[in-house]
Amino acid sequence: MEFRIGNGFDVHKLINGDSVILCGVKIPHDKALSGHSDADVGYHSICDALYGALSKGDIGTHFPATSKKWENANSTIFLKHAHSLVNNLEYKIMNIDTTFICERPKISNYCTQMKNNIAAILKIDISRISIKATTTEGLGFCGREEGIACLTTVGLFRNE
Ligand code: ZN
Repeated sequence: MEFRIGNGFDVHKLINGDSVILCGVKIPHDKALSGHSDADVGYHSICDALYGALSKGDIGTHFPATSKKWENANSTIFLKHAHSLVNNLEYKIMNIDTTFICERPKISNYCTQMKNNIAAILKIDISRISIKATTTEGLGFCGREEGIACLTTVGLFRNE
């Protein structure tokens, strides 16, 4: 058995708006996340963790922000792509552990929906997915609600 671990980290800026999209869930908020795509910081960090575990670059390698093609893109596309690389290399996902870093919105009410979205795309049981959230107690850019950060660790395995 070969095991691989990957980590992913992403940040998007908060601007004026009425909702944020986190792991495919549209959450009502008094701000929005800005980015080239739909700025789904959750999916982006999971993608980067998967790419990292496979030593296949990062989300920017596969979907350059300089390309018009990915403007306002639904980040489900990126996660499906990362999943296809996992499949092509015959790995299976052992587990995913994702942590949002933000003061608001409150993530806990949406964890189940997020897990269901991820499970459907990556074709894994929701028992393999963990979604958590923490604040920085008002400190730094997350504390000042200037942006939302997200951190993910994934484990993959493959029969040798
Ligand atoms: Zn991103």
